[in-house]
Parts: sequence; C-alpha cells; structure tokens
Amino acid sequence: MKKVLITGITGQDGSYLAALLLGKGYEVHGAVRRASMENTVKLQNIQSIADKINLHACSLDNHLSVYKLIAAIRPDECYHLAASSFVSYSFEDEASILAANFTSTHYLLSSIKELCPSCRVYFAGSSEIFGNAEESPQTETTKFNPRSMYGISKLASHHVVKNYREQYGLYACTGFTYNHESPRRGHAFVTRKITATVAKIFLGIATKIELGNIETIRDWGYAPEYVEAMWRMLHNPQGPKDYVVATGVAHTVSELLATAFSTVGLNYTQYIVINKDFYRPGEQVPLIGNAKSIYTDLGWKHTTLFKDMIVEMVQNDIREYSAQNNQ
Ligand code: GDP
Repeated sequence: MKKVLITGITGQDGSYLAALLLGKGYEVHGAVRRASMENTVKLQNIQSIADKINLHACSLDNHLSVYKLIAAIRPDECYHLAASSFVSYSFEDEASILAANFTSTHYLLSSIKELCPSCRVYFAGSSEIFGNAEESPQTETTKFNPRSMYGISKLASHHVVKNYREQYGLYACTGFTYNHESPRRGHAFVTRKITATVAKIFLGIATKIELGNIETIRDWGYAPEYVEAMWRMLHNPQGPKDYVVATGVAHTVSELLATAFSTVGLNYTQYIVINKDFYRPGEQVPLIGNAKSIYTDLGWKHTTLFKDMIVEMVQNDIREYSAQNNQ
C-alpha cells in the first residue's frame, strides 16, 4: 500500500485530497499542529474520514520535527499544502508568512532528500507569484512578479522545489493554482464571506455586507477538482513538471455577489456597503490562468460551473447557520 503525507490536511484542499487518496487505496498520513490535534473546529473538515487517516503532531517550522516526521512515515508521495495563506500587508504578518511558508518547504524537501529520495513531492504554489503580471491570462512561462509577501514566499519556495528537482533529481513539482473554493473555504476569503453573509441575510441574522473593490477580477475554480490535478501532477508520464491550474474564466466580485444573492431571490445592490479598509493595493492586471498545458499533458480541466459552485456554497451556509440557530 502506498503511503502519502499531506501537510495542511485539515484545510480545504488537504481534506478533499485525503478523501480522494483514501478512495485510491493509499495509506493517508497528515501533519497537524499539536494545538490543533484536540481542536474539533480545526478538525471539522476531516471529521468524516478521521478513523481512516493517521494524524501526526508536527511543527513545520522546526527542522527536527519535520525530519522526525519524514523518518517515521517515509512516504511515497508528499503533498505540501500547509501555508499561511492570508495575503496580508502588515509587517508582523509578513515576517511570519515568510518564516512559515518558505522554511517549511525547505525543511520538508531536505528531509525527504536525506531519508526517502524516491518520494514524489507536490508543492502548492499560487497565482500570486505572477502578482502584477505582464500578461493575462498567465501561463507557465509568464514572468513571475509577486506583489505580496505571500506571493514572494510561494515563489521562493517554488525555486527551492525546482532546485531540488534539478540539482538532486527529486520528483518535485509546483502547481500554480488559481483561487479555488468550496463549502470548506475559509471565511476570510471573499467567496465564503459572501455566501456566508447571504445565508445570514436570508435567515434574518445579518442585514448588510461590507466589501472592498467589487470590480476586481478572479479566476475561481472548484477545490475538489484541483486536488485531482495535484494527484495527476505526481503521476506525470513526462516526469515532474510545473503547471498552471485554473479555469481560464474571469469573473468580477460583483458577478459573484449577483450569483450568490440571486440564489435566495435577493438583489445584492440593496445590501452592499463599500468599505475602503478592504481594498488591496496594486491589483491592476487580472489574474487569470491558461491551463492548456495540464490539459494537453495530463487531461485535466475544470468542469464545475462557477454558478453551480456558488449555489452549493450558499446552500451549505444556509444549512450550517440554520443548524446553529436551532441549537
Ligand atoms: P485572494 O485572491 O487569495 O486574495 O482571495 P480573496 O478571496 O481574499 O480575494 C479575492 C478578491 O476579492 C481580491 O481581489 C480582493 O481585493 C477582492 N475583495 C473585495 N472585497 C473583499 C473583502 O471584503 N474580503 C476579501 N477577502 N476580498 C475582497
């Protein structure tokens, strides 16, 4: 039985990936912060598969902790999804984002190189590495130009991945994934913020929604399909290669609002309050991905429609908030 290690297993992508790999017959291991081991809220996404997976307490920012984890599991595949994923602009956050995202990737790769160099490694990159991109849509050859410390941490990690592949022969690759959402998306992200607030307005427990720039454009995909792309990247007949994983379809935040509010028969213009505090600096060029390469090489493409995904998220949030209201 093949062994897989997933960092960030309790998150949106990690939990979908764990379920996918259990279905494929893998022995699934997950790295979790010690503080999260007993935290039922943090473990919510993996509740339904908890008895089928093996959780290990690990501090990814501690080299010895990572080394011991790899030594204990000696995985055949490793998906490094754990990251501080908030695109923040405060100095304190920047320092911790760099430390968490960059050093953890290096510790994992160096431990794998020493202990089980045949382990295949997927690294969760991000469209944020293109930042203020020179072209749109972006491809694997678009110049990197990150505009946030999060993007910089992902780009630096990608270079470490590439270096371990080219210098040491590791099967290691980066997925440049664009935004991907689901009912498990964190509440700080704009999709979930909107679907959760629509549910609350519908249930009479909220009256308005405060947002930043609603004309910004994003390429929003469906998370369960993106974890399939990650698995395919570790089974590439051409060997390890980096790919853009995206839908190629552009939507504005206002389209997202219209779709979410219309699910419950409401018009968003009556509920929106624009708050400049939520504006982001420097979002000139739309981040839209061209996923032609992964389709040509691995047959992956997105299938779930944006509208269907948003409707699923709103319906899920209505169920969640109704249940909380009735407790
Ligand atoms: P990101 O692409 O990883 O930053 O994902 P987000 O979901 O946080 O943001 C997506 C887009 O929504 C960005 O262009 C934001 O500028 C825009 N946006 C507008 N209002 C808000 C808001 O209130 N919260 C968040 N998170 N994003 C907002």
